[in-house]
Amino acid sequence: MTRVLNFAAGPAALPAEVLEQAAAEMLDWHASGQSVMEMSHRGKEYMSIQARAEADLRELLAIPADYKVLFLQGGATLQFAMVPLNLLRGKARADYVHSGEWAKKAIKEARLFCEVNVAASGEDRKFTYLPGQAEWKLSPDAAYVHITANETIGGVEYHWTPQTGAVPLVADMSSDILSRPVDVARYGLIYAGAQKNIGPAGLTLVIVREDLVGQAAAKTPVMLDYKTHVENGSMYNTPPTYSIYVAGLVFQWLKRQGGLAEMERRNIAKAKLLYDFLDASRFFVSPVRSEDRSRMNVPFTLRDPRLDEAFLAGAKEHGMVQLKGHRSVGGMRASIYNAMPIEGVRTLVAWMGEFERAHG
Ligand SMILES: *Cc1c(COP(=O)(O)O)cnc(C)c1O
Repeated sequence: MTRVLNFAAGPAALPAEVLEQAAAEMLDWHASGQSVMEMSHRGKEYMSIQARAEADLRELLAIPADYKVLFLQGGATLQFAMVPLNLLRGKARADYVHSGEWAKKAIKEARLFCEVNVAASGEDRKFTYLPGQAEWKLSPDAAYVHITANETIGGVEYHWTPQTGAVPLVADMSSDILSRPVDVARYGLIYAGAQKNIGPAGLTLVIVREDLVGQAAAKTPVMLDYKTHVENGSMYNTPPTYSIYVAGLVFQWLKRQGGLAEMERRNIAKAKLLYDFLDASRFFVSPVRSEDRSRMNVPFTLRDPRLDEAFLAGAKEHGMVQLKGHRSVGGMRASIYNAMPIEGVRTLVAWMGEFERAHG
């Protein structure tokens, strides 16, 4: 068996150790005689799996006691609606920072429910940078301020935490959660689809300060009210049990690696290797301003796009897949989440160097 080096943005690579453990436990989890997939979500075996996943996540992110952890479905995309439905709390307006493709979708959905003040936008430079907070125009009566912590497509990431005073800060961390320690107390709500840096698709993680729960708009569907999921321990209906189980294995793996401080150290080293190469190259280009560059998703282009196909074909021959850029931007994108080892990035950089020498 040969496993590829998978640079996909999501669903993305998982640690091999986690997949091996899931495989070993597939038919018979801990002498229960069943696969986790077959278990009653209300049985004690499965309940213990979900409880451990939550406890490990709380430990990894040092989540304060007054924050609830929810295991939901519907993807980060459903959070684009659930956030305004639950957090407007009678207010008419919310502030959004427009940083790229994912922020754009969040803004569009929020406009169904409230007036959106675009407090700042990177559109003037095609979303290749993040406007600094000094340029933001926040509204005094905003219900919350929404940011996209890491733009998975554009490759810009906040390396600072915005200051929003008493107004709750909401962050879409779909593609950089668990890549570094986060001071959860600085946020009112954090959400993330699992399939980038947590686990399999089908699970959406929400971390919400408890005082923000319980004030959903009138006629909010039961499933879209955070209160429903808080009161029922994310088991109002059947949760995505297998995805939560694998996410839990990833949390245990992260703890064995040394936790999020160690992951941040590795992620900085991986990103530096790739960006240093790009900056030294006259053949490949990174479009993103250096201080806003994502450690997770690295878009880059070849100066001559006619060589794109040859670059990708050669990468595949070297065991590297999913390097093609998002259809909306073209070029290349290397997603280098927690599960991508530095050796994988070295292999990529070696291929880029070889290709540049042959064609540059
Ligand atoms: C992938 C992604 C989404 C959408 O996630 P789904 O789980 O597919 O709904 C939203 N925001 C960001 C930043 C993403 O990377």
